[in-house]
Amino acid sequence: MTQPPDAEARRAVAPVICYPTDTLPRPDLSRYAAALEGAQVTDTVTAPPREACHFRVGAAQFFRITSVEGPQVGDLNLWNAEDLSERFYSGKTRALHGTHVSTGDRLWSCFPFLRPMATIVADSLDWYGIDAFGGSVHDVIGTRCDPYTGMLLSGQPYHHCCHSNLTRALADALDVPLAEAERHVHDVLNVFMCTGFTRDTGQYFMKASPVRPGDQLTFFAEIDLLGALSACPGGDCSAEHTSDAAACFPLRVEILTPPPGALEGWQPPARNGYDRSHGR
Ligand SMILES: [Zn+2]
Repeated sequence: MTQPPDAEARRAVAPVICYPTDTLPRPDLSRYAAALEGAQVTDTVTAPPREACHFRVGAAQFFRITSVEGPQVGDLNLWNAEDLSERFYSGKTRALHGTHVSTGDRLWSCFPFLRPMATIVADSLDWYGIDAFGGSVHDVIGTRCDPYTGMLLSGQPYHHCCHSNLTRALADALDVPLAEAERHVHDVLNVFMCTGFTRDTGQYFMKASPVRPGDQLTFFAEIDLLGALSACPGGDCSAEHTSDAAACFPLRVEILTPPPGALEGWQPPARNGYDRSHGR
């Protein structure tokens, strides 16, 4: 491989942040925290191992995902409860907040909406940071385990990947056929999953999640949401997914309702202000 004479100089150019977030509207985290303090659990659903559950959470309610029984990773999908064409956009969330998300970061919706769907208000794994391998938790870089990639790589069908689990959960939530539900399943937030990219080959890696029973990730719902959460067949994702090999555990989702008046005057975020004329 031949290199140009100024190869090192070109490599030495310093990076710039693609999307500086200084102008992003800031969530009022102290207000959310005060509302969470007095909130009561008003509904609970559980994703069984290698299955998914669905849940509905209204704007200004909270939802909290908890590891129970053993270390387990979850794959989360979110939709606007009134309009499924507005859904979580992991790629833009990554571009805005980074490869992994934690307290204060927001889950953004797709075009043409591009507004916060949910804000992370508490994360019991926020101590983890970025480890020596470049790994961190709660990523928006993985897509979701799915039977198509499994078929491509192993030639074997497997029916309990997160993609299929989410498809079944959404089909049940909407009472529609699987093929109709599958169209709405999208790239996920990998809750509790510990991932990164290898430095030498740039490949997506996973490693045993640091999550332990009792660990929680809590969100404030900015708009009315329909959610689905899959307890990944990879379990803690220390070895493999797309199989029944790993030890798998349930994940609990609680809906919390703040006391009346706790968020008085709060308004859901408006959809994006761009006029969609695209220069014509
Ligand atoms: Zn999975």
